[in-house]
Amino acid sequence: MAFQAGVGNRLLTAFAPSDLNLLAPHLQKTSFDFDAVLVRTGDEFKHVYFPLSGVIAFLVEMADGHIVASTLMGSEGAVGALSLLSPSRSPVTATAYVAGAALQVPVAQLQLAFEQSATIRQVLRLHLRTQLLQLNNVAACNAVHPVECRMARWLLEIHDRVGHSGIQLTQEALAQLLGVRRTTVTLTMRKLRAAGGILSERRGMLEIDRRRLEKITCECYAVMRRRIKRMHHEELPVGSPAFSPPS
Ligand SMILES: [Zn+2]
Repeated sequence: MAFQAGVGNRLLTAFAPSDLNLLAPHLQKTSFDFDAVLVRTGDEFKHVYFPLSGVIAFLVEMADGHIVASTLMGSEGAVGALSLLSPSRSPVTATAYVAGAALQVPVAQLQLAFEQSATIRQVLRLHLRTQLLQLNNVAACNAVHPVECRMARWLLEIHDRVGHSGIQLTQEALAQLLGVRRTTVTLTMRKLRAAGGILSERRGMLEIDRRRLEKITCECYAVMRRRIKRMHHEELPVGSPAFSPPS
């Protein structure tokens, strides 16, 4: 496929034109609906997906049937990048919470480009480290911060990725993000509505007030955002855009 500058995925945008030329013949655009599964737990990674839009959740399935979301990803990342460390099976199920589009590339082709290009290695290793940073932060946040602060954080994270204040999200998705029952989701949404963080909720469409949510959430959102921004600023190749989600 012909490759344009400003492709819409922050990692691809950070690659040099010569890097993109290595990948371009193998990139294929695909779209995914709400609830689409990109890879299931235990499946071998066949493709790496560079999202252009939408929001993908990484879900951990517990033995008793509970499903918990560990992190979210949008156009700042690559689903399946873990496969670059070694051929492996997915430890999570990647499911779309918000429909979107992605460029997919076979793992073998990305692996080849990863070995050939220092820039691709640098960008994708940085991406994997930002993923680890988020996982650590979410684990700590889950352990000590109240559920309404955590709901505010997840809504801000989704807002960063969709870019508009109307967020279509099921109660089930919120229950997975928070690791709580649906009744707790309802109670927590009521609290956020009373505090002005959620302005309205109708058939899963949440209208949010971003500034209010920033006041309600714990420090984790700003800390994680600041750290990732600094890592991108200090470590992305010169000329690449730093990570700057819409505010
Ligand atoms: Zn927190």
